Amino acid sequence: MKKIIVAIDGFSSCGKSTLAKDLAKKLKYIYVDTGAMYRAVTLFFLRHNIDLNNTLEVSRALDKIQISFRNFNGENTTFLNDENVEDEIRQMTVSNAVSQIAAISLVRKTMVEQQREMGKQKGLVMDGRDIGTVVFPNAELKIFLTADTEIRAKRRLDEMINKGIDISFQEIKKNLRKRDRIDSTRKDSPLRKASDAIEIDNTELTKDKQLQEVLFLAWEQINMDVL
Ligand code: C5P
Repeated sequence: MKKIIVAIDGFSSCGKSTLAKDLAKKLKYIYVDTGAMYRAVTLFFLRHNIDLNNTLEVSRALDKIQISFRNFNGENTTFLNDENVEDEIRQMTVSNAVSQIAAISLVRKTMVEQQREMGKQKGLVMDGRDIGTVVFPNAELKIFLTADTEIRAKRRLDEMINKGIDISFQEIKKNLRKRDRIDSTRKDSPLRKASDAIEIDNTELTKDKQLQEVLFLAWEQINMDVL
């Protein structure tokens, strides 16, 4: 059967990962959370106090970073140099620094190369900010997710509370707004909707309804040559 690439982009906490994960499971595709890659790089940079203005230091640090995704207790889990960092990369220290680090061209270049490599065989659902515009401009299906900021912050708050992280609604909203601003205004591959992406506002959509809609669009693409 024909395999495709599904690119899912959008603002922070729009439910991209949930949708991408569920869709990949239905299609039996690989799922790649590119946000987790930028978060893992950020964690490494913070731990090693990397000077973001020193290109050589940034480049040397990137050479020391190996990011992989493994199935751990049935969950897609991020590993940084063989260490399970899934929980640590979701902490606010990382959330507060990630957009600044993700705006560095050398960081983006390195991540994009790895992401393209992962998509060589197709059969992949990838979510992020620049997947449909930069990483896979020829992806067969591109989705651009949006949702009301209050709803996004509320969803993120519930997620954090479930993980036992103590944080206020205001702090989350501030972080989302800040990341959206930096991500959409950076020089290198800013977050924007690809001209051929399908926009879905999921403010009022249930998770299942959204999945059904996107699954239908994916099947249309997979069966395109057959019809
Ligand atoms: O998806 P998530 O919210 O975990 O992403 C964390 C941050 O990583 C984003 O706010 C953005 O700065 C960066 N990012 C990016 N390009 C991607 C994915 C994430 O710049 N493709």
